[in-house]
This record gives sequence, structure tokens and C-alpha cells, in this order.
Amino acid sequence: MNLEESFQMAVKDESHRQTFLDKVRGEFGLPEYIRKVEYVPKQRVSRREGVETLMLMNPSPLARYFHMKQRKGSVFVFPSAFEEEISGYKNSDDFLSTLVDHEYFHAKESFENPSLIHLSPLSWYVKRQKTLKEYMADISLSLPNFFFMKIFSFFDVKKVFEKRTERLKSFVNDTHAFVDAYELRAYRNELENFKNRNCSTEHMIDVALKIRRFSKDMSPIIIYKFDKEGNIMSQEKIDI
Ligand SMILES: [Zn+2]
Repeated sequence: MNLEESFQMAVKDESHRQTFLDKVRGEFGLPEYIRKVEYVPKQRVSRREGVETLMLMNPSPLARYFHMKQRKGSVFVFPSAFEEEISGYKNSDDFLSTLVDHEYFHAKESFENPSLIHLSPLSWYVKRQKTLKEYMADISLSLPNFFFMKIFSFFDVKKVFEKRTERLKSFVNDTHAFVDAYELRAYRNELENFKNRNCSTEHMIDVALKIRRFSKDMSPIIIYKFDKEGNIMSQEKIDI
């Protein structure tokens, strides 16, 4: 059975999914930065996006929390990765595009340069502390007024809270920007590897749309079809 047949079998029969993942490992080997690739029968839903996760890279806690290099990550694959109406995967290359060119890429960055991909809890803590410290400084500025029986103005308090909310908001925005940046790098890696794969047009458009979303680039998507000699046969503009 070739890889494509094995993939189609895994789509139809859940009991074949881990076998398919093992076959992928057998054919291409496992890079040094991957511990294992495992099928998880319980579907996961992304907290940020509210959509079903297809697969994810789970880093070593030492990489995630302490930014230690050379720590392997694991990739977990969920049921929706085998359901075409959710994943959009039409063939094994669509699947491998996400598994190898995207999730492995996250694992490679985590292995080689963890601070590129993990906002460590330590940095969250420092940022939170700073917010709190600044907040206390704002309050203490208002205190002398209070002791001099001046009005500890409602507006002062309001201002302080507004400032604090602003800071928290910008912190959340920073975090989103950080995630968007490493997602963008992974999707770009998928794009670069299309030339080595036989992905469906639908999957390629899907990746192009993700890149557009994460980079906030609104340029149109153009699909070129090439002949065997590499000449452009057709060009189609997609407006979505
Ligand atoms: Zn990703």
C-alpha cells in the first residue's frame, strides 16, 4: 500500500490513522526536533479561534517555559484532520503540507530558537508585574490629594483604570501579534514547499488565504498552472 492509499484508508477507518502516521515516519524519517507524531481521538477546539484544531505542535515544557534549546516537540493529530469537510485535505500531500511543512516547522523553531515561538510565563509575569507596579504608582500619585482633603476625584480613579485597561489591551495585542508572526512564518514555509508537493488547488488557496490574513495583506490571489517544462499555461485570479 502506498502513502496515498494509506491516507485514504485512514480517512475512512479511524483505526488506521496511527498506522498512516507511522508510515509517514517510516518513509520520511523523524527529524531530530520531533519526539513523536500521535493520533488523538478526542477532538480539540482552539480557544482563540473557536474552530476545530487539525493538528498542533506540543513543545517541550523546558522550551516553552525556560526557552531551553534543543528540546524536541511532539505533534498531535486530531480527527478533523481526516475529515475533508473540515480540513479541506483532498490527498496525502495536503495532509503532509500541514504536518511536515507547518507543524514540523514550528517544532524546528522551538528546537533551534525557542524565544521565537514561546512567550514564556516568566515574560508574562514580568509584564504583569510591571503593569501592577505602574498602576500602584498612579494610585500613590493621587494619594497626597486625598490626605490634603482634596477630592480624590472619581476621574483620577477612572483614568487609572482606563490606563490599566489600555495596558492590558496592548499586552493582549502584543501576544496576538507574536502568535501571528510565527504562524505567518509556518504558512510561508508551506507555500515555499508547494513546488515539492502535489497539493490540491483548494489546499493551496487555503494556505494563501491564511498568509493574507496573518500578514494583513489584501493583495489578490493568483493561481498559475505550469506545464512540464515550467511554462505558465494559465493564470486565474481569485477574489475572496
Ligand atoms: Zn501553526
